Amino acid sequence: MHLPEALPKAELHLHIEGTLEPELAFALAARNGVDLPYADTEELRAAYLFSDLQSFLDLYYGLMAVLRTADDFTELADAYLARAARQGVRHAEIFFDPQAHTERGVPLGTVVEGLARALDRSEERHGVSTQLIMCFLRDRSAESAMETLRAAEPYLHHIVGVGLDSAEVGHPPSKFAEVYAAAGALGLRKVAHAGEEGPPAYVREALDVLGVERIDHGLRAMEDGELVERLVRERVPLTLCPLSNVRLRAVDVLEDHPLPSMMAAGLLVTVNSDDPAYFGGYVGDTFHAVHEALGIGQEQLRELARNSFLASFLDHDEDRRARYLAEVEAYTFD
Ligand SMILES: [Zn+2]
Repeated sequence: MHLPEALPKAELHLHIEGTLEPELAFALAARNGVDLPYADTEELRAAYLFSDLQSFLDLYYGLMAVLRTADDFTELADAYLARAARQGVRHAEIFFDPQAHTERGVPLGTVVEGLARALDRSEERHGVSTQLIMCFLRDRSAESAMETLRAAEPYLHHIVGVGLDSAEVGHPPSKFAEVYAAAGALGLRKVAHAGEEGPPAYVREALDVLGVERIDHGLRAMEDGELVERLVRERVPLTLCPLSNVRLRAVDVLEDHPLPSMMAAGLLVTVNSDDPAYFGGYVGDTFHAVHEALGIGQEQLRELARNSFLASFLDHDEDRRARYLAEVEAYTFD
């Protein structure tokens, strides 16, 4: 039977660190001699039911301590890709946060080489094509972002672009103008989280100052009619993460999510999982959830899937994009 979950799709907003499931966290902790402040996977799973942003961030960054070696990163990415494949993902553009690892003494090369090992064999193992996007933590300094970009230069053959994530308010995109200009000069694609908690002005800045091609989240753009018109006119993709918005309280309940009105406005929106181990579902689960809670019908699910490939960085391989789009059209729900 074909479930809506299995609709072929691309995932464009996925933090690899956010795919760390309790079982793998414990396995890596044991292997690396890291003490976790939880008795077992059940207790850790209960901690994943955090109630606010700060407890999420504490858990998220705390658990990263188990990721030490290149093999750890390979296993993490491999586990995500296996799950994603089961949920219809055919192409994944994966974020990682180098500073979250270099700050605790794990070299950037270890992280990139470990992830790349899983990504390079993903097509053969899982039938999922991949790209890697390096994100800067926006609550760190612009200098730290620039140092990270410079340190990444030997690994750029593994990296398609740069992004900007973590706590948004008080850290406007313009803070990173220089590092984005430098990334552009290196031929990297550009995306940024904007308009999740931050105001519509941050979305404009990401477009005008950083020159991003996609906005990650962009929910609050809906407060600004002129901005919505521009996003529609310029076909700027927005990578929405509805389950994440509920867990981090950008919306109270999924039933209140603006996805339907964003689609009705003609925005090029996609649906993604963000940090799926923590937010209650992978991208196929998310498609299922918006179908159930928001009445997103089968043809609209197909539109979301189509958008995901249109918004992806597959410009270097239009044949592949066309093949994926044909899979979307050929998919039968029943
Ligand atoms: Zn995100």
